[in-house]
Parts: sequence; structure tokens; C-alpha cells
Amino acid sequence: MDCPACGGPVTLEVGPDRPPSTSLSNAVLDAAEDERLDVVRTCWDCGWQEEHRLRVEAIDTTAGDADAIERARLLEKITDELAAIEALGTLEDTLTEVRRQRRLKPAVEDTNENATE
Ligand SMILES: [Zn+2]
Repeated sequence: MDCPACGGPVTLEVGPDRPPSTSLSNAVLDAAEDERLDVVRTCWDCGWQEEHRLRVEAIDTTAGDADAIERARLLEKITDELAAIEALGTLEDTLTEVRRQRRLKPAVEDTNENATE
């Protein structure tokens, strides 16, 4: 995204306690349930800075490879949206929506199996 003050490029850093090179995607992947992430966007041209606190609610990590793939897809979606949006609050909305969809999906599959048996 571009700096809202001067239109220059901004950098995004994720904290706390993470290396400066950590991407938001990796930070979300590594985050424990209910862990807070600080996301700081800085423009090095004019000094504009914006800090957001995100709370990572449960992104399930309990199951196997299928879930890992799904998480990767989720993260792609998150980073795509982050690139496009101004308000990081939308990220939390995205996570909420994805969690809702994940919960609905198995329920539908169960219903189908029961119907055929
Ligand atoms: Zn700027």
C-alpha cells in the first residue's frame, strides 16, 4: 500500500518479539490462540506511522496436512486483502468469516454421509 500522507511506499513490521523481517503471514501462522500481534506500518519518506493491534483468534492447528493447506490458503487471502485495504480491522473480520466457513463445512459433509448410509 501507499502512504496516506505522501503516497510513498510503506513498510509493515510485525511484533512484539518477532524479527523485523517477519511477514504478517508468518506471524499469524505462528501466533497462539488469542495472542496479540502488533502491526506497524511506517513510511520512511515522511515518517508517517500507524500501529494496529490484532488478536489472533483460533486458527485451528490440530488436524493434519489438509488443514495446513487450508491455512496456507487462508494466509494468502489475508495478505491479499491486507495489500488492498486501509484498515487492518478488516483482517479480523476475514479471520472471523473464515472460521465460520470452516465450521459450517464439516457439518454439511456429515449430513450428506448420513443421508447416503
Ligand atoms: Zn509518507
